Amino acid sequence: MKVIRGVEEMREWSREIHRQGGLIGFVPTMGYLHEGHLSLVRLVKERVSATVVSLFVNPIQFRPGEDFERYPRNESRDIELLDKEGVQVVFSPSVGEMYPEGFSTYIEVTQLQDPLCGRFRPGHFRGVATIVAKLFNIVECDIAAFGLKDYQQAMIIRRMVKDLNMPVTIVLGPTIREEDGLAMSSRNQYLNPEERLRARAIPQALERARRLALDGSISPRRLVYQVRRWLLESGVDQIQYVAVVHPEKLHTIESISPYALLAVAVYIGSTRLIDNVLIGPEGEKNPICFIDEDY
Ligand code: AMP
Repeated sequence: MKVIRGVEEMREWSREIHRQGGLIGFVPTMGYLHEGHLSLVRLVKERVSATVVSLFVNPIQFRPGEDFERYPRNESRDIELLDKEGVQVVFSPSVGEMYPEGFSTYIEVTQLQDPLCGRFRPGHFRGVATIVAKLFNIVECDIAAFGLKDYQQAMIIRRMVKDLNMPVTIVLGPTIREEDGLAMSSRNQYLNPEERLRARAIPQALERARRLALDGSISPRRLVYQVRRWLLESGVDQIQYVAVVHPEKLHTIESISPYALLAVAVYIGSTRLIDNVLIGPEGEKNPICFIDEDY
């Protein structure tokens, strides 16, 4: 496995793969890898001849006062894990390599960037869309994978690729969870043991809501009310939002049927955690947001 830090070297490598007729799969990450990231690696690996994973904590998607500086990093461990997965290249550039002086171009995916996390992290998705577009241009990937853990991000990237005619197929992978249901996240390591226990309240509330809403008859308003109550009763310190939205357009909806997304952002202590669940007929694969190469 190669570790590449330069944009030009990355491009050269990708072009060689393409010259040989190969397909390149790509998983962008901010590192501090866990099974959620590795599940995406496995998802693309089976479809391509070479897999690239990027490790880059992207400063422009953090707002002042957010956790950019203290975001967990462990490059040598990440490299080891990716080597074991059979990845061909780790692309790990410096901030200066990605944002040289004078950098001034940004991508905004209007509308989709505004609700949910966008309301509380203005500029966040502009930073995400911009870095992903840059990485796509540098890696020249054919297929890229994103996790539904970051559901809004996945919808935004899919929209950007479609709107800007980027020649990349986006595949989406399910949220990988710890044994007790907590969605895996690099930020889980901010939780102390007592907070980690209380964090179970998040998946528990989402699962309870999913079951309650299965027949589609409960109103989105009522469901939001219930979920807020359950979260606060079971140890969440603060709710940033609980929302029931259209699973693709992310706007608020009047009825849960046939499908809806229930998304939450909460604080356990000072750690902000997000999670979501798709509500709809059980057993059916959601037509909108699973692996949809035809989108
Ligand atoms: P991050 O390193 O947090 O930027 O995440 C990189 C990619 O991994 C994104 O596409 C995330 O949605 C995805 N990801 C993060 N956590 C999980 C998880 N628990 N399950 C599935 N995918 C995840």
